[in-house]
Amino acid sequence: MNGYMGQVLYVNLSSGETRVEPLPEEQARAFVGGSGLAARIAWDMIDRHTDPLGPDNPLILMTGPLVGTAMPSAGRYSICARSPLTGIWGEANSGGFVGPQLRFAGYDGIVITGQASEPTWLSIVEGQAELRDAAALWGLDAYETQARVRQELGEPKARVVCIGAAGENRVKMAAVMNDHGRAAGRTGLGAVMGAKNLKAIGLRGTAQVPVAHPDALRDTAREITHNLDEDIPAIAIQLAGTAGYVDMALMYGDMPIRYYQQGEWSAASNLSGVLMVDQFQNRNTACYRCPIACGRETRAPSYGVDAVDGPEYETLGALGTLPMIGDLEAVIYAGHLCNVLGLDTISAGATIALACEMFEQGILTPANTGGVEIRYGDAAMVHRLIGMMARREGFGDLLAEGSASLAERFGVPELAVTVNRLEVPVHDPRAFAGMAAIYALSPRGACHMQGDMYGVDTGQGAPWELGVPPGDRFETSEEKGRVAARQQAWRNLYNALILCQFQNPGVEPLLAAFNSVTGWELQADDLMTIGKRIVTLKRQLNLRLGLCRADERLPDLLTRPLTEGGTEGNVPDLDALLRGAYAEYGWDMETGQPGQEAAAALQLET
Ligand code: SF4
Repeated sequence: MNGYMGQVLYVNLSSGETRVEPLPEEQARAFVGGSGLAARIAWDMIDRHTDPLGPDNPLILMTGPLVGTAMPSAGRYSICARSPLTGIWGEANSGGFVGPQLRFAGYDGIVITGQASEPTWLSIVEGQAELRDAAALWGLDAYETQARVRQELGEPKARVVCIGAAGENRVKMAAVMNDHGRAAGRTGLGAVMGAKNLKAIGLRGTAQVPVAHPDALRDTAREITHNLDEDIPAIAIQLAGTAGYVDMALMYGDMPIRYYQQGEWSAASNLSGVLMVDQFQNRNTACYRCPIACGRETRAPSYGVDAVDGPEYETLGALGTLPMIGDLEAVIYAGHLCNVLGLDTISAGATIALACEMFEQGILTPANTGGVEIRYGDAAMVHRLIGMMARREGFGDLLAEGSASLAERFGVPELAVTVNRLEVPVHDPRAFAGMAAIYALSPRGACHMQGDMYGVDTGQGAPWELGVPPGDRFETSEEKGRVAARQQAWRNLYNALILCQFQNPGVEPLLAAFNSVTGWELQADDLMTIGKRIVTLKRQLNLRLGLCRADERLPDLLTRPLTEGGTEGNVPDLDALLRGAYAEYGWDMETGQPGQEAAAALQLET
């Protein structure tokens, strides 16, 4: 099977058993890889009784056919499970070198079930899997853990997936970390790993991914790399990382301020990517075979840290504009704390900002925060709360449960800016209306990585040929809902291949690469069909896990227009958008289930 290593490693941490199973070709053809294939595997393993932190919840690491090949920017892996933060399908993916290394070690993916009785780590070297004692690793931060695992393997080039304190303490927004400070951040999958007593996975191998037409793939890869010279968005993030979007986001009103309630703030421009490059950048960094190299290494000398991974745009918003921290170095340091402790910066920052708002409204007082004054603009407080959250110390124990839980506990559920209990990232649907449909229908709750309508409507990387043209960013018609659904399907295909979403060579080059790797003779329309099939399968899984149509809503604060800034007076009409998206997917407006016709066209069960 070209494009695949052809086997998946199954690990049961309760029994200590490991076994290898062939990857079913029909599943690979239907769901490709990444979170698509992981969802298909999970379909046979989870239902509404599966405890996200229990032994039966499978933690699935999965690569895709492009990973580890000559295709540029295809060095990612997905990690998936039922989310402890949201209760529905959880998925995250991360770049770096882990995805390719997992394939070179011999596997397309790993499915981990059970619960080890003692801290454990998993070694996979040249196909050989071994469970090892992690007593000496437990308690180490994410960076120390990666270094120690490499040392214990005696493989300085090994790649490591691990958790920090947050994962060990089952913090609901714990990230899975790899390649120093890269994070599979969202939906709390670090807590699933921690609950399994699995501290790390060390990977090393020298196998090669079988490619059907290597010469054709090399030609396509060369063409894609050559064409990057004319890809303005790619050049922009090469120059300033994703932080380079800050200035544009502020202009559009896309970067939420003061817990999503303020349209303008002069200090926000302190967080500009241009300033970051000028004042704090050490160097830029790249994932496996990526000519874009959007990664940043910065520094925070005032805090004694000379190398920080990031910050990304999302971190600058979640730990900057949301809690009103306009000191760039303080935000860089906050991101660093999240990296070493293994926390999702988006959910962590948004939850702290919610606490600021609750404190300001008098809903929280020092009496129930253990004496901590949680005020907007206090960088030292943000740094302190990050540590308390990761260690579940004092009030941090409540923060560790996430925004929805915090707001419910104090009787103000309407205050949490979440969709399906996942904190809304740093893209405001009042700025790009299509994001309202994306958030409401995202398989993992509010997610900007499964339908970037802010990219589409600013002309960045949209697949026009497949019916995703840029348009009016405020439009909330049914047609806009259809476009959003197509972009959501397109990005779900990306998350299956797995290709970085900053690599947008166009439909034809991507199709050529996919066909060259696999030898399949897919047409462009097939790509959209696969994307819709994956979204629909994840939806069916979520309906099984208890999701219902009433959950497809925007949080209250995002339905209120702002009085100034780039979104002034604008609120999207979610109902119109959803009617269009439902029609595009062929889902029933009453039940939320795919109709018979849609299910048949997508070759899915009903
Ligand atoms: S663009 Fe950035 S995130 Fe994407 S593969 Fe390249 S370095 Fe990694």
